[in-house]
Amino acid sequence: MNSKPLIIIGTGAAGTMLASTWRRLDPTRTLIMLTQNNGDYYHKPMLSTIFSKEKTLDDLVTKTAQDLSEELNAKVYTKTSVVAIDTELKQIKTNTDCFEYGDCVLAIGSETRTIPHECESHFQINDLDDYRKLWPSLEKVDSVQIVGAGLIGCELTHDLAYHGKKITLISNTPYPLAEFAPEAIGIALKKHFIDRGIQYQYDPNPKIDPNQLTVFTVGLKHNTQLFPQFDQSEQGFKTNRFGQTNIDHVYAIGDCAQMSGINLRYIGPIRATAAAMSNTLCQQPTPIHFDAMPVAVKTHDYPIVVCKHPTISGKWQLEKNDAQGIIYSQMSEENQKIGYALTSQYCELRTKMTLPPWVA
Ligand SMILES: Cc1cc2nc3c(=O)[nH]c(=O)nc-3n(C[C@H](O)[C@H](O)[C@H](O)COP(=O)(O)OP(=O)(O)OC[C@H]3O[C@@H](n4cnc5c(N)ncnc54)[C@H](O)[C@@H]3O)c2cc1C
Repeated sequence: MNSKPLIIIGTGAAGTMLASTWRRLDPTRTLIMLTQNNGDYYHKPMLSTIFSKEKTLDDLVTKTAQDLSEELNAKVYTKTSVVAIDTELKQIKTNTDCFEYGDCVLAIGSETRTIPHECESHFQINDLDDYRKLWPSLEKVDSVQIVGAGLIGCELTHDLAYHGKKITLISNTPYPLAEFAPEAIGIALKKHFIDRGIQYQYDPNPKIDPNQLTVFTVGLKHNTQLFPQFDQSEQGFKTNRFGQTNIDHVYAIGDCAQMSGINLRYIGPIRATAAAMSNTLCQQPTPIHFDAMPVAVKTHDYPIVVCKHPTISGKWQLEKNDAQGIIYSQMSEENQKIGYALTSQYCELRTKMTLPPWVA
C-alpha cells in the first residue's frame, strides 16, 4: 500500500471525476489537488449554452474548492501553479510550495490554439475564466465574429445568435464541422445558420476584421513545454492502456492525455478513464476501455449527434436525408458499421445504435 499522497494536478472534469471515483475505493490515503485557478467546479460543456439555457456564469458554478475539499476529503490548493515535477525525487514544485507524491496524476487540460491576427478585442473560450474575460465586452457590442467553425465555434455561434448578437462565422472550410461530420450535415448546418441570419464567411485565408469583437475557436493543443521529461506530443502526454505515462507513478487523464495514441477531448472518455485508473491506483491494474462514444453538437435548433471512430477513417455512407433529418453510417473497409451521424429528429435513434467498442 502506498502511504505517500496521491496528487492530482487539475480540478477540471478529469481531476475531479478521478478523485471522486478513486476516493470511493480508498477512503483513507491523503489526496492533494492542485489547481492554478480558484477551484470553482462547473460543467464545462455548459459554457457554450449559457444564453440558450438562460444561465449566468455564476449559475454554472456548482461547487467551490471548499466544497470539493469536504466532499473528497482532499487538500485542495487553489491559485497554485505547478512549474516542475522532479520524477526522481517524486516532488512537485509549485509557485508557492513543494509537495511529495506517491502517485501523481496530470489532469491539466489543454490550451487554445491561435492564428495570426490584428484584432484589438479578441478572446478564446476554453474555461470559465476565459468567459469571464469575454462577458463585459460582449455586453457592449451588437456584432461578434467567431473564427473557426468546429464544434465549439458552431455551438458559440448558435448560443450568441440566440442572445441576439449578429454573428459572422469565419472559416477556412466551405461548411462547418468539416473535420467532424459528413459533408451533407455540415452543409445543412450552414443553411440553418444562414436562415437564422448568421453570416458564414468562407475563405481559405480568412479575412478577419480587426475592429470587431472576435472569438477565436480554432482548436486546442497540449503544451509540450511545461513538463518536458514526459513522452508527449501536441495531442497530450502519451500513456499506456492503464493511463500511465513513460515515468513510473505518473498518470495522465482528460484533455491532456493520449491513451494508446487516442486523444479525445470529451467528457465520456474522461469518465471511462477515471473508472479504470481509480482501480489501477488502488493496486488493481485495470486497462482503460472505450465504448463507442457519441458527441452531441449543442446547436439545439438543429441538433446533431456524431459518433465517429477515433482511429479508423471509415467512409460515411448516407442512409437517409428527408424531412426528419439525416442519417449517416460510418463504414470500415471490411464494411462493418463503426460510427454514425444523425440530425434533427433522427438524433433520438442514438440510444438504439450498437457499435463495436473503440478500445476493447
Ligand atoms: C465550450 C466547450 C464546450 C464543450 N462541450 C462539450 C460537450 O458538449 N460534450 C463533451 O463531452 N465535451 C465538451 N467539451 C469538452 C470537455 O468540456 C473537456 O474535454 C473537459 O472539460 C476537459 O476537462 P479537463 O479536466 O481535462 O481539463 P480542464 O477542465 O481544462 O481542467 C484543467 C485543470 O488543470 C489546471 N491546471 C492547468 N495547468 C496547471 C498547472 N500548471 N498547475 C496547476 N493546475 C493546472 C486548471 O486550473 C484546471 O483545474 C467542451 C469544451 C468546451 C471548451
